[in-house]
Amino acid sequence: MNTPRAVKGMNDILPHEVGRWHRLEREFRKTVESYGFGEIRTPLVEPTELFTRSIGEATDIVEKEMYTFADKGEKSLTLRPEGTASCARAYLEHTIHAREAVTRWYYMGPMYRRERPAKGRYRQFHQAGCEVYGDHGPFVDAEVIDMVVSFLERVGVKDIRVLVNSLGGPETRARYRTALLDYLAPQREKLSADSQRRLETNPLRILDSKAPEDQAIAEGAPSILDFLSEEDRKHFDLLVGTLESLGTPFEIERRLVRGLDYYSRTLFEIQGRGGELGAQNALAGGGRYDAMIEELGGPSIPAFGFALGIERLLLAMSEEAPATEDRVVILAANDRARTEATVLARALRLADHRVETDLRPTASLKSQLRRADRSGARLVLILGEDELARGVVQWKRLDADKKGEVSRDALLGQLRALLDD
Ligand code: AMP
Repeated sequence: MNTPRAVKGMNDILPHEVGRWHRLEREFRKTVESYGFGEIRTPLVEPTELFTRSIGEATDIVEKEMYTFADKGEKSLTLRPEGTASCARAYLEHTIHAREAVTRWYYMGPMYRRERPAKGRYRQFHQAGCEVYGDHGPFVDAEVIDMVVSFLERVGVKDIRVLVNSLGGPETRARYRTALLDYLAPQREKLSADSQRRLETNPLRILDSKAPEDQAIAEGAPSILDFLSEEDRKHFDLLVGTLESLGTPFEIERRLVRGLDYYSRTLFEIQGRGGELGAQNALAGGGRYDAMIEELGGPSIPAFGFALGIERLLLAMSEEAPATEDRVVILAANDRARTEATVLARALRLADHRVETDLRPTASLKSQLRRADRSGARLVLILGEDELARGVVQWKRLDADKKGEVSRDALLGQLRALLDD
């Protein structure tokens, strides 16, 4: 009989891997909280309409990637494919705009898209992201982009490219769309089948198509930066100037459009080149979405946000050599010692130490020691027959050639030193 397996493209994160996740999550919180962002947790499931209205009908996500189902034949629900729409919904639902002029939120958690699974591309993946509401200026765009770059440096992701572009406002985009169509239409036959379809639905997306036949054509396309209105141009110039003042490394990439419909003006993407990243090299992306809140039925409130993919970050991070952990394992020679081990372990845990016991009734001390050694713990405490009788414990460091004996009474006071010396 077949044993059950996880859904394709959805992965388990096992305890030996989760330490790296914890570290990233911790660093993310620390970084964004230092910029005044507060955490929001929204449901994993939302009304389908939220995503079709905010992300846009003619996007890959809404057209083909959402996990959508009928809730017992009543309402159509969708597993969230990204975090921005849910945050915008919550922002409106709780009328946050009536309470705060500027709101800074961050979130972390799983997202769902029915994409073709590959290295760095999954159907359940994890994002960490931020949203700022109520500030229409370019300075906050620059500050947040710089924050993402600092975070990546802090967690040891090296060798990144920061791409920045402007999509202008609706008026700019309409003028650019016409110019782009004028350029693309005569070359229609040379475009990929997907891009021919996009000519009708979303011609800007042709610019970042991965198909080689499209790329050559996109290369010669007019640049949206030449179509910016005066206000859009001012926004972009101030963004660029602020990034320069911050010393943030960046490149202007006029072909950057990204896959979501809701962006206006500032757009950015951070690509990685190192580690095990393959073709899926976009680590983080985001931009300004000044129209979304209004389109969802709220007042006109500008917003800026980004999301980064945790799995891709982990692939991009250089693997550190596994160090031993600040952890103790208690080994016991017989049943009486095993009982003692549970008592001793509890006392040490109450003093905030990380302690494991090996309580298997038939395992020899030798096999217990082998297991502790492999676990990456730093210190073992051994309770043998003789040690029990004398009220002492043998200790042995697993990462250094050090061992000794300590009385049970003195152990708690000395444990920190035994781990650190
Ligand atoms: P997006 O929400 O499409 O702007 O994506 C933001 C970031 O989420 C990307 O730069 C990736 O790091 C990550 N991401 C998006 N889709 C996936 C996926 N299917 N699998 C893994 N990571 C993803």
